[in-house]
Amino acid sequence: MNYDVAIVGGGASGLACALTLVSSKGRGWEWAEGRRYVLFDTSGSDLRKALLNNVPGVPRGTTGAELLKRIKSQIESFGGVDFVKDRVVSVQRVEEVFELRTAGGKEFTAGNVVLSTGFHGFDIEGLNLEIVENPKSPKPGRVMVKHNGDYKVGEGLWVAGLLAGASSMFTAAAGIGVQVAINILSEWAGKPVVIHDVPGQG
Ligand SMILES: Cc1cc2nc3c(=O)[nH]c(=O)nc-3n(C[C@H](O)[C@H](O)[C@H](O)COP(=O)(O)OP(=O)(O)OC[C@H]3O[C@@H](n4cnc5c(N)ncnc54)[C@H](O)[C@@H]3O)c2cc1C
Repeated sequence: MNYDVAIVGGGASGLACALTLVSSKGRGWEWAEGRRYVLFDTSGSDLRKALLNNVPGVPRGTTGAELLKRIKSQIESFGGVDFVKDRVVSVQRVEEVFELRTAGGKEFTAGNVVLSTGFHGFDIEGLNLEIVENPKSPKPGRVMVKHNGDYKVGEGLWVAGLLAGASSMFTAAAGIGVQVAINILSEWAGKPVVIHDVPGQG
């Protein structure tokens, strides 16, 4: 199956990225229509361990697991993202596309890949990435992928969340997921894009 964007990791940043991408549909942007998105996840988000008292707009005492479920439902309300519960084991650039392989033996291709697998390590094969210590982590041994300062690692290849060097806070990680989605949409549009809605509109 060929996708426009494959998101690897469905925690705070990967889900935020997917939500922004799908919300670009139905706005009269011809370049956004018919896009296909896939999100791979192994259900290991750090958020599953969290009780949230400080996420803006999220009621105090919400569990991270509840919030993940809510964001996934929000994405599903737009449609257009295929969710795959499988570990991505390799990503390789082959000419214009990336080839992704999962532990379950499935193969996919995508024009863009967003790596949002958190900061506990990185073992996806096939990409020549510079993995360094995440300087924002209070604990040693946490990693990030070096990028160009705007979360791009190479043509069509992006990093988000803690793997992009965010501090381990929901909004910081999710914010980078949103920025990566906006960067991809802006490349497709050929100009800077934002997605704003107003009351009374669909
Ligand atoms: C105990 C605890 C409490 C916390 N409390 C708070 C809090 O109160 N407030 C706050 O703002 N933040 C809190 N956080 C931080 C917050 O959970 C993280 O900052 C956030 O989840 C990071 O988002 P992320 O997308 O970078 O990574 P994650 O949310 O960890 O998501 C990474 C995802 O990638 C998946 N994955 C990894 N490798 C692969 C692969 N090869 N293929 C497919 N999928 C893969 C994992 O299964 C996981 O679902 C807490 C964290 C912890 C651990």
